[in-house]
Amino acid sequence: MTSQDLDVVIVGAGLSGIGAAYHLQKRCPGRSYAILEARQAMGGTWDLFRYPGIRSDSDMYTFGYNFRPWTSGKVFADGPSIRAYVEDTAREAGINPHIHYGHKVVAANWDSDAARWTVVAETADGKVSFTCRFLIQCSGYYRYEQGYMPEFEGMNDFKGEIIHPQLWPEDTDYTGKKVVIIGSGATAVTLVPAMAEKAAHVTMLQRSPTYIAARPSRDAIADFLRKILPSRMAYTLSRFKNVLLSIFFFQLSRRRPAAVKRNVIKLVKDQLGEGFDVEKHFTPDYNPWDQRFCLAPDGDFFEVLKDGSASIVTDHIDRFTETGIRLKSGEEIEADLIIPATGLDMQLAGGAVFTVDRRIVQPHDLFTYRGMMLSNMPNMALAFGYTNASWTLKVDLTFERVCRMLNHMKKTGDDIAVPVPPADLEPAPLLDFSSGYVQRALPHLPQQGSYAPWRTYQNYIQDMLAIRYGKLEDGHMQFCKAGDWHAEPGDVRRREAAE
Ligand SMILES: Cc1cc2nc3c(=O)[nH]c(=O)nc-3n(C[C@H](O)[C@H](O)[C@H](O)COP(=O)(O)OP(=O)(O)OC[C@H]3O[C@@H](n4cnc5c(N)ncnc54)[C@H](O)[C@@H]3O)c2cc1C
Repeated sequence: MTSQDLDVVIVGAGLSGIGAAYHLQKRCPGRSYAILEARQAMGGTWDLFRYPGIRSDSDMYTFGYNFRPWTSGKVFADGPSIRAYVEDTAREAGINPHIHYGHKVVAANWDSDAARWTVVAETADGKVSFTCRFLIQCSGYYRYEQGYMPEFEGMNDFKGEIIHPQLWPEDTDYTGKKVVIIGSGATAVTLVPAMAEKAAHVTMLQRSPTYIAARPSRDAIADFLRKILPSRMAYTLSRFKNVLLSIFFFQLSRRRPAAVKRNVIKLVKDQLGEGFDVEKHFTPDYNPWDQRFCLAPDGDFFEVLKDGSASIVTDHIDRFTETGIRLKSGEEIEADLIIPATGLDMQLAGGAVFTVDRRIVQPHDLFTYRGMMLSNMPNMALAFGYTNASWTLKVDLTFERVCRMLNHMKKTGDDIAVPVPPADLEPAPLLDFSSGYVQRALPHLPQQGSYAPWRTYQNYIQDMLAIRYGKLEDGHMQFCKAGDWHAEPGDVRRREAAE
């Protein structure tokens, strides 16, 4: 096994990994680093997902990096445009030579005496290892190999095709086919209008409704600002406007859920007009923002329901048949192609095993620190975005703070930065979200604490003040020399270090 010693290893070359490298190069010049990427391409989510219509449901003024204006004018960008934005960022900043493709990280072992991580990656030529002083996990939050797929009775009887959106073959031809999309999340709401153009008919089959809101695909204020101001200034202002609007809407949803619910449903009625059972198909039994909101750019989803090229059915699946799906109500929907848009399988660090001083780490035993590090896990940050706002808003802040920490340690001569939780900290679930994929994953995820900085507030302005400007030596983060801190038996469980 060959080995390389570096200042920083970044795992993952998606939107976050490239952002981390950019911040590191800019704020900590001269540090050696590598990006280890399991796949053969960068872009992460925006390279993996190829289903028709794939796009962001965050506005690009907040989903774009804080250091690189999004200038295309499209508020919700398609997958290839986001991939190109990430690729352009990497190329222009000279990040490409640092990326090692085909390197799947399977283990990371921390040694407090050496103040180093040993990161083990599988490659086509066997295992390789890298040692580093700091590790930044930008490996996303879900299993790449496959999405979540419930077992439906009779699946093998179905004579047509079943394709999960996460594993979409690009040559899929659905022209003139009867398509059934199972699910009501962002993927289903994207797929329905995108496929309705060519398919004979698209049916969205949902167990229960989701909040869906139409939003313009152009932002008139941002377009105006771009005309009169330099692009960076226009971007910053549009970004700030959208941050404030999203915080306002989220807070309103939390404080006045009934009023927000009423208004969102009224807007759906206005979009669809007469003749639709909005009560049945568009009235969720949870409050706005208990799950992620779905967006329909320019109301595209509602348009295809109105013109009849798509329809929506709210019912439970009894079983798959040879020709389609039989519902609990007894109704049968015919299909040539069934798409289970049933979601992701959440997974941290791409399934890699971590040890600290030869003790294996169980993520659920740990607390998150400022939503960017984990308790008793030295010199490691993770990119984990917001659930109620753009992912990038949070991860940009995370990388800024990591760079501040690295510069601080260089100045003081410290080797270790480790968040140490106080004894009275009470655990709480990491995410306050009722979506199935979150609920399934909670027992395997770290927890948050009962108070700051161990609690994640999902609020960009609050985080900006605390993470960007707050003191590094905050009484919870311990800085020390190599060997002056070791994992205690209670911190992480004792077992043999994984290779
Ligand atoms: C269909 C879809 C739409 C989305 N839309 C939005 C949106 O509109 N707004 C929003 O905020 N968020 C959205 N998200 C969430 C989205 O994943 C993030 O916003 C963002 O793309 C995450 O970037 P990332 O680089 O952190 O992770 P990813 O994009 O998941 O990239 C992770 C990278 O790490 C690599 N990797 C993983 N494990 C390992 C390992 N062990 N070793 C080496 N490499 C590894 C992967 O191969 C991948 O390249 C969406 C997610 C999906 C699936």
